[in-house]
Amino acid sequence: MVTINDNFQKLPGSYLFSEIAKRVAAYKESNPSAQIIRMGIGDVTLPLCDAVIKAMHKAVDEMANQSTFRGYGPEQGYKFLIDTIIKNDFEPRGVSLESDEVFISDGAKSDTGNIGDILGLGNIVAVTDPVYPVYVDTNVMAGRAGDLLADGRWSKIVYLPCTAENGFVPELPKEKVDVIYLCFPNNPTGTTLTKSQLAEWVKYALANDALILFDAAYEAFIQEADVPHSIYEIEGAKKCAIEFRSFSKTAGFTGTRCGLSIIPKSVLATNEKGEKVQLNKLWNRRQCTKFNGTAYVIQRAAEAVYSEEGKRQVKDMIDYYITNAKIIRNGLEAAGYTVFGGKNSPYVWAKTPDGMDSWSFFDYLLKEKNIVATPGVGFGVSGEGYIRFSALGDKDATIEAMKRLG
Ligand code: PLP
Repeated sequence: MVTINDNFQKLPGSYLFSEIAKRVAAYKESNPSAQIIRMGIGDVTLPLCDAVIKAMHKAVDEMANQSTFRGYGPEQGYKFLIDTIIKNDFEPRGVSLESDEVFISDGAKSDTGNIGDILGLGNIVAVTDPVYPVYVDTNVMAGRAGDLLADGRWSKIVYLPCTAENGFVPELPKEKVDVIYLCFPNNPTGTTLTKSQLAEWVKYALANDALILFDAAYEAFIQEADVPHSIYEIEGAKKCAIEFRSFSKTAGFTGTRCGLSIIPKSVLATNEKGEKVQLNKLWNRRQCTKFNGTAYVIQRAAEAVYSEEGKRQVKDMIDYYITNAKIIRNGLEAAGYTVFGGKNSPYVWAKTPDGMDSWSFFDYLLKEKNIVATPGVGFGVSGEGYIRFSALGDKDATIEAMKRLG
């Protein structure tokens, strides 16, 4: 008799985006002429830049020629890309990494979701609330989350609320936790931590023998000098943190797929005999067994992001989205809303007016303004009373949406 991993059945259906789609479809059916502006899903809209496209074409041609054709590549990624990333993203920030501390992948969703493979099931996991749902759901699948409570939280997960009251800076946990997911600039709130705020977390992790899983998927949007791009800018982080990065939002790779994980060899965790083990070794073993590498063509495309032309073009894309975020912030503020985020991030997090709950405000925006945003409560209990606007859409549509709100 085949049995299943029962943890999968504990997961509620992926309610958020399907519920949004359902409500939008129902509205559209009864109002077919409505010009709906979608500011919900966090997908990019600009095409890949020219430097990336040229590199992809060139790599495709290489695949068509026997002397330059590539079959299986290294599971960890090609050295040309790894070394380019270290040289451009880390060395200028004073972070030295060895090539075998970087693992290229098909994106940060896979890596943040799979990292639990190498961690014990008894670890107590902490997440900020609201949160990118992948961190929670993958711990449910693994059996680390306990049971679903009536309020939508999981019994064994430690939640660290991030709200306007604490300036979206999570407080250090009062109980002992082993694994902490941090994502800054944050999805969904669009807020950041300064270097000194992040340093508190590194200090906590070192003192408590905990591991920080730092998701830097949005680091390319950082505009302010005091916001760290990498957790390794903080002293001591190479002993207690794994970092995840993505080309998705940085360079429009959501459909192209490329990301990376950084696991310094100095990050250790304890085995059942009480011995310290390098997580780098375990992840390498995991990747070599379960992953056969990111496509050569895609890795050449990612490398092109760091060419002089690529850097300029990618910066233009980021500037475009950051300008959208500013338009959203200004538009919402002018209309009397209280807004957060959007300065170092493509997400603007707004307080719903008059104490409305997230879904009621979603319905109001859809029906009265023909705008789709994402209800904050869909990201966790502490997201109730907020709504997320994405700045990753078209500029003219963003301007039009703000006109409607004004
Ligand atoms: N991490 C965060 C916080 C995200 O918001 C997203 C995508 O929206 C991802 C990771 C996924 O990135 P990727 O496209 O590289 O899988």
